Amino acid sequence: MHDTDAIRRGHPIVDVAAASGLELRLTGGRLAAVCPFHGDSRPSLVLYPASQSYYCFGCGAGGDVIDFMSRLHRVDFREAVTLLAGAPAPTMPAGAPDAPRVAVPGVDPMKAAPIIETAVAFYEEAVRSRPEVLDYLASRGIHERTVRRFRLGFGVPGLVAELRDRNLDIETAQQLGLLDEDREWFAGRIIIPDLVAGRATWFTGRRLTDREPRYLNLRLPKPLLGLASAKSEAVVVTEGPFDWLTAVEWGFWAVALLGTRVPGRVAQSLERFEDVYLVLDPDEAGREATEELHERLGDRAVPVELPRGVADLNGLGCQRDGRSVFTRCILDAGREAGAARERAA
Ligand SMILES: [Zn+2]
Repeated sequence: MHDTDAIRRGHPIVDVAAASGLELRLTGGRLAAVCPFHGDSRPSLVLYPASQSYYCFGCGAGGDVIDFMSRLHRVDFREAVTLLAGAPAPTMPAGAPDAPRVAVPGVDPMKAAPIIETAVAFYEEAVRSRPEVLDYLASRGIHERTVRRFRLGFGVPGLVAELRDRNLDIETAQQLGLLDEDREWFAGRIIIPDLVAGRATWFTGRRLTDREPRYLNLRLPKPLLGLASAKSEAVVVTEGPFDWLTAVEWGFWAVALLGTRVPGRVAQSLERFEDVYLVLDPDEAGREATEELHERLGDRAVPVELPRGVADLNGLGCQRDGRSVFTRCILDAGREAGAARERAA
């Protein structure tokens, strides 16, 4: 018979919920998730780490971690205890990132997480000895402080040896799209990671030239880049990773859509912000995505027009007075949106 108190202590509710695939988000100072126990459309299920319990304001489900497991897997108390006892205790401290959301069938998220972090740390180290890469970034308006803060890297060969040194699973690295038998796919690219509590959970790599396709992504679902670091009431939404880098370089909290497709979960993640400044490219795809987001987000969305002749936010970032021009665009857009709201009221 298992010691149920020890099981409860060894399996914090937050870690078990995250490991079970619930996407946790901080809303109104609470940790919430879309409830898996009823047809939930908003995050109604709240986790209470202090009492190691949960409660759903939609369907009334609630209890401790054992209750959570038994409901989730439709098993009784004893079987839920056995499930938890059989699961390795989460080794990540509370507040550490969830296991990456996995799209590739067969990729074990627990094996993938340390591989992604190791790769980013390896590439991050390499960029420091590559002045030509730092020069390139500076020419695009991205300076060393931002490179360090957001752990940008440069793909140098040698990752496979690094992974072997650390006894990490090469097969998982292959499934993630990092390497093949004879090739390391991110070599020669600028690495831009998505960070959750400082740890890398995903990354994209950009060529140093403009040859298409410019970006290569890790084979995991695209995140809303930067979401975990955007801890403010207002956020700037950009299209590409370099537009995002420009916004964060200038001190704005920002996220990147990584394209112009707007999946429902992305719009939903943006609902936590009071003001969402939409700074997409001034082309057809960018305008359509802006309209779509505006429709979904309603009043909180503030479409921002870039000055004529600027292809994207990073284009403005390469200009000497880019930052002050952008700040003016943001303020104008905010004023206009405020006036429109008043007219509608
Ligand atoms: Zn519920």
